[in-house]
Parts: sequence; C-alpha cells; structure tokens
Amino acid sequence: MLYWYSVSGETIRRGPMQTKPADLQVRLLSFLHIPMLVILLVSLLAVNLPLSYAPVDQTLYTILISLLIIILLCSMFLLGKNHYMLALILTILIPLIGSWGSTYINFQAGAYEYLPLIYGAIPIMLASFFLPLSAAVALMAFQLVALMIVFSNTAALRLQNWPSFYIFFLFLCMLSLIANTLINKQLQQLKELTVRDHLTGLFNRRYFEETLENKLKRTNTETRTLGLIYFDIDRFKNVNDTHGHEAGDVVLKAIASLLVEYFDLATTISRYGGDEFAILVLQVSLKQLSMLAHGLVKQVEALSVTHKNQAITTISISAGYLVTNATYNRPELLFEHADEALYQAKKAGRNCAVGYEEVQTSS
Ligand code: GH3
Ligand code: MG
Repeated sequence: MLYWYSVSGETIRRGPMQTKPADLQVRLLSFLHIPMLVILLVSLLAVNLPLSYAPVDQTLYTILISLLIIILLCSMFLLGKNHYMLALILTILIPLIGSWGSTYINFQAGAYEYLPLIYGAIPIMLASFFLPLSAAVALMAFQLVALMIVFSNTAALRLQNWPSFYIFFLFLCMLSLIANTLINKQLQQLKELTVRDHLTGLFNRRYFEETLENKLKRTNTETRTLGLIYFDIDRFKNVNDTHGHEAGDVVLKAIASLLVEYFDLATTISRYGGDEFAILVLQVSLKQLSMLAHGLVKQVEALSVTHKNQAITTISISAGYLVTNATYNRPELLFEHADEALYQAKKAGRNCAVGYEEVQTSS
C-alpha cells in the first residue's frame, strides 16, 4: 500500500501503482550484462591460456565459467523478451554460483578459500539495487550463514587474516544496502512526482491514461470488464468566485479524500483535469458501476467542507459512466462516450449520474 503526503501534510491512503520495474532498472540490467559477458569471456580465455600459472583445476574452472556464460546468455535473452524478474534472478545467480563454485574447486585442489568473502558481496550489491530491501537482507543472511559453515570446516583458514576479509565483506554489503536503499527511495519519489497530481495527491491524467490503455489491452485477452466513471464538479467557478481560489482547492482535496475512502484499493482514481476526475474500476458489472456512480453523487452532495470557518455549501458533481465491452479497444473512445454521458448529466440539471447506455437508448 502506498501513502502520499498531500500539500496540506495529511496522509492519504492511495491505491497501489502498477508494479512494473523502473525503466532505469531494466536499462541498468541490460548495460550490466555487457561487462559481465566480457569479464567471463576474458576469464575463460585466461584460465585456458598455456601459462605457467594456469590453475590446477583448469577443466573445472572452464566448466564453471562456461556455465556462467550460458546463464548470462539466458538472462540476456529473457530480458530481451521482457521477462525482467527471471532475467534478474539469473543475473544475481551468476556471482553467487561463481564465488561458491570457485570455492568448491579450490577445496578440491586442497586449498583454503576466502574468495566468497570478497566476491560474495557482489550478488548482495546487485540484489540491493534491483530487489526489495527484505530480499537483499535475506540474501546477505544466507551468505553469512553459508560462510560461517565454510569457515567452521576450514582449519587452514584460521591461519589467514580472515577477520579483515570478513569485515570487508560486511562493509561492502552494508554500503550497498544503504546506498541502494537511498537511491531507490529517491527514484520512487521521482516516479511518484511524475504520476501524481500535486494538489490532491491522486494519480494524474498521464498515469491514468497509461493504466487505462494497459488494462484495456488485457481485457481483450482476459475477458474482464472495466468500468469508467468520469465526473466534473458542478458550478465550480462559483465556488472560486464566492469563496476564493484557496477554498476551491480545499474542495478539490476534500473530494479527493472522499474518493480514496469510497473506492477500494484496486480502483485507479485520478484528477483528470481542473475540476474533472476519472475513476477506473476493475471487474465490475454495469449494475454495480451504476450503484457506485449514483452513490458517489450522493456522498459528494453530503460532503461538508469548511474553509476559514466558513461552510462551502452546495458542492455537487455530474458523472458519466460506462462499462467496457468488446468494441472498446481505444481509451479515447471510452472517454468520448463517458464525456457524452457526463454532458447529458449536466443537461439533466447536474448533481446526477448518467450511464452511456441510457444516452444510447434515449437517442
Ligand atoms: P459546470 O457545472 O458546467 O462544470 O460549471 P463549472 O463552473 O464547474 O465550469 P467548468 O467545469 O468549465 O470550470 C472549471 C473551473 O475549475 C475553472 C477553474 O477556475 C477551476 N479550476 C481548475 N483547476 C483549479 C484548481 O486547481 N483550483 C481551483 N480552486 N480551481 C480550479
Ligand atoms: Mg465543472
């Protein structure tokens, strides 16, 4: 659940935003793949060069690096096909398998190992930027426990300066967790700014249209219905003229708060324009939407708003509403029809809701 702090400082409950990854994260992941591929290819070459310091377990290293290259190529392919989450998981697996794999090989060769202390921080750095904080912390906990187990079985390690590696590992993990959490918070705030209406804290027109378009695309494949309520405040100019622009703003905020209370979290609520609001209700029948629209008109009528101890009377709205069917494949068409119904509501004397079906049958 998201919270939005409105200009007046009060906290208003808001519906969830679509959970698609930020463009920046997708781009970063795809940029990251290139140096990763280069590093792995160079490593493969280095391990197989006929040099005097070639590793003892050349074959095992070759198998490990080849496996990592295959995983990386799969991840690149999946990202290309828009499977962001799968691609991300595979990418994080690469340094995990890499560090533990090389540890295993070194054990095979009879050597002790503190490599995971250095390389083990890389998957946590990746996770802290791309995944929620809890997932990154869980991964860090896993690494710490695994390292403890390895250490407890590695007597030779005690001869080494492992505590300094351990501190280095923790330092890197903490630094990434803190830095990336802050960066992600900033990104989230920036994203919020681009999708929210500054005055009411509701979603703005841009976000609403984007959501509508996405949901509409899905309704064609998922046999779902969408409901649109589009309303405009009646004689709002009068409120501004009589009580002042500031009082008008208070009314807009009061209506926004009412909408948030009135509709459930799955509903997308937006301030569409000056005194216009658009509401997208998922999986709704015409009868249910009609009840919602008429109920809303009544709720706004009953709204009591005061500004500077002065009651602002006669607040009402006129609403047009409709439920999608197979003919609706463009958001503009939906709005055109909702606007037509809204116009009929204004014509019918305001303070009422009209369904587009009624407009059609009466014409
Ligand atoms: P109608 O019943 O026909 O809708 O009459 P109306 O007076 O509401 O007319 P209309 O919807 O065309 O006017 C919208 C008014 O909303 C015009 C503008 O002054 C006012 N408005 C738009 N944005 C804001 C805002 O952010 N704050 C305030 N206070 N007023 C706004
Ligand atoms: Mg109006």
